[in-house]
Amino acid sequence: MTEKDIAKIRKFSRFTFPFDFPRKDDEIDTTEKQLQIIINILKRGGENLRKFIISSLYALDIISFFSEGGDFLSLDETRTKRLLIKLTTSSRKTPQNIFRVLRFISTISFWDSFGNEKIGFKIPQRRDDIPKISWEIPEEEPKIKIEGYRGVKWDIERIKFGKFVRRDIRIVSDVIVVGSGISAGIISERLTREDISVSILEKGYFIDAEIPSVFLSQSSELLGMFPVSSIANINAFFGKGIGGLGNLSFSIFEKMPDDAKEIWRKFHGVSTKEIFLDFATKEAEEVINSKGNGNANSRSETIEKISEFFRTEPKSFNKIKGEKVNLLTGEEVFSPEKLIKYAVHFGANLYLGFEVEKISRGKKWFVEGKIKDEFGNIKANFIAESKAVFLCGGPYGNTKILWNSGFKEKTLGRKVKIHPAGLITAIFKSPQEQKDSSNYIELSKEGIFIKEIKLTPGVWSSIFPGMFGPDLVKTAKKYPFSRTFIFWFREAGDSYFVKTPFGVILRTNLKGEDIAKFLFAIREISLALLSCGAREVYHPIRSVPPFTSPDDINNSNIEKVKPNQLEILSIFQTGGCPIGFSSDTGLCDSTGRVFGEKSLFIPDSSSLPDSVLVPPMLTSASVGMLSANSFIERKNFILK
Ligand SMILES: Cc1cc2nc3c(=O)[nH]c(=O)nc-3n(C[C@H](O)[C@H](O)[C@H](O)COP(=O)(O)OP(=O)(O)OC[C@H]3O[C@@H](n4cnc5c(N)ncnc54)[C@H](O)[C@@H]3O)c2cc1C
Repeated sequence: MTEKDIAKIRKFSRFTFPFDFPRKDDEIDTTEKQLQIIINILKRGGENLRKFIISSLYALDIISFFSEGGDFLSLDETRTKRLLIKLTTSSRKTPQNIFRVLRFISTISFWDSFGNEKIGFKIPQRRDDIPKISWEIPEEEPKIKIEGYRGVKWDIERIKFGKFVRRDIRIVSDVIVVGSGISAGIISERLTREDISVSILEKGYFIDAEIPSVFLSQSSELLGMFPVSSIANINAFFGKGIGGLGNLSFSIFEKMPDDAKEIWRKFHGVSTKEIFLDFATKEAEEVINSKGNGNANSRSETIEKISEFFRTEPKSFNKIKGEKVNLLTGEEVFSPEKLIKYAVHFGANLYLGFEVEKISRGKKWFVEGKIKDEFGNIKANFIAESKAVFLCGGPYGNTKILWNSGFKEKTLGRKVKIHPAGLITAIFKSPQEQKDSSNYIELSKEGIFIKEIKLTPGVWSSIFPGMFGPDLVKTAKKYPFSRTFIFWFREAGDSYFVKTPFGVILRTNLKGEDIAKFLFAIREISLALLSCGAREVYHPIRSVPPFTSPDDINNSNIEKVKPNQLEILSIFQTGGCPIGFSSDTGLCDSTGRVFGEKSLFIPDSSSLPDSVLVPPMLTSASVGMLSANSFIERKNFILK
């Protein structure tokens, strides 16, 4: 084993752990320790392990050479990332195994450099080297408030990284917020500005916008859920980390349309505050816009283009621009992560890697769970005590917590709405070739929405899980102009929770007519794109080649396609803990307060009782805002 080999392992581990952000430069310097640990592991591992690792490294070089044109160490950042994505998503066994072996080795080394003994390797002289981190709960003194949030940085002193924890922790605070998605962000930001002490418990870590989908995809929680097959998709379900699912959004926040509000008023008990959504939406937008560098009320060019392209009516929406890159589309988006940053700035404590399992109530609320690292290894337990709890873990997260807490009769059987969606990529030879055509149907009349998104590895992987890196580059070069669309149905599909030996999971109930509609959408959109001059249309039907002419569509016997051949994305999950008139019709009232509980709130996408017919992030944010406002009004009563 040479120094070069060790350097390769270190490089590998650097790229496979994109999560350890942010931290002070001087806080944890793992490099030297990691090196020492790699050497120790190799010394102790015996001849066979050494041979095994060396041959894996050798194979890594060969694969790097053939895919990216150089040995592993010589590859620059982009190529390295591409290569790693390719390895993890390869359908062949060898690259997968190489990846696993190397990741295991680098996990141990990376990991142990923070003093984790559970992994099974004890390195004696290490003890003194362990970085000293104080786990005392910081004083709850309100921080100095400054006007305007631009330039606010993460207040690292208020963030606890679960991966460094080595003993059980007790947290005390006025309010516990579970999750760190858009609703959690809005609520935490609002409450901390009122000098209420808030602790945010998030099971994930910081999400690296470029590569993590690959690494987040290995989740056992996905068992039995919607037939997901792609990485972007899996990531969407998992919703892990600061910013929650907002990290995957298309960057557009849309207001709930009037007809949807009408449905809500009639069936879901929001008549108590008829206009609350408009009111809260306005406020939520303000919070988001004032702090992002966004341009409120601007029209999305994409929507305009698509509307023109498909001759449909543009909808009203706000586009909020930000700095974060969308995992799915590669676009710049406003990330809910920012709201959490502001909340932390105003004094909230953020606990990362803290997965809530259950809640119980005595004189106070007790929120219990496990402290985990990024890979799900349990490091310790925690118990948090508070006077009020906001559950903002999304439909799956919240329902699971409530189920574990004995609320099962209230949540089980409550439906979760999901929107089946699909991706279609059209390849044009040149932009000029894209003809105007009036032959297509008006999709919105059929209840099908379509939005253009950028072609990124995440999107591509949803179309062809095998196509990555150089293949993608080759295709892109061959076809200089391509457009990718996501389509989804206005009518949401139902899914429901069931208990299995693996825990509570979400099962979809996709009916035959949903499948038929999905196929209809593929057919019509493909035809429209072909008639607009597309050379090839990549569609979400497995084992049917891309369409190159309308005849291909007719000959492919699309109506005979089986459901398991479809690459269906599930987006816009809502429900599970719905708002209703009373405890007979819902779990919480229109401010997200759980019926019968003074201080338990569920104000996020899980309390939206139905599909909101448009992307639901702003509506989720609105419910959060409404809940925070009503909490603040009654804070003396709740917190006394
Ligand atoms: C691919 C995709 C694209 C989308 N695009 C758009 C769009 O363009 N516009 C739009 O408006 N909407 C969009 N949405 C929907 C939108 O992202 C979500 O509806 C919204 O972000 C939900 O926010 P939330 O706060 O309710 O929950 P989430 O964002 O799901 O946040 C929940 C958080 O809680 C954490 N958590 C869960 N369980 C626990 C636990 N037990 N302990 C601790 N933490 C836990 C999770 O890690 C997560 O961070 C999209 C969704 C997807 C999947």
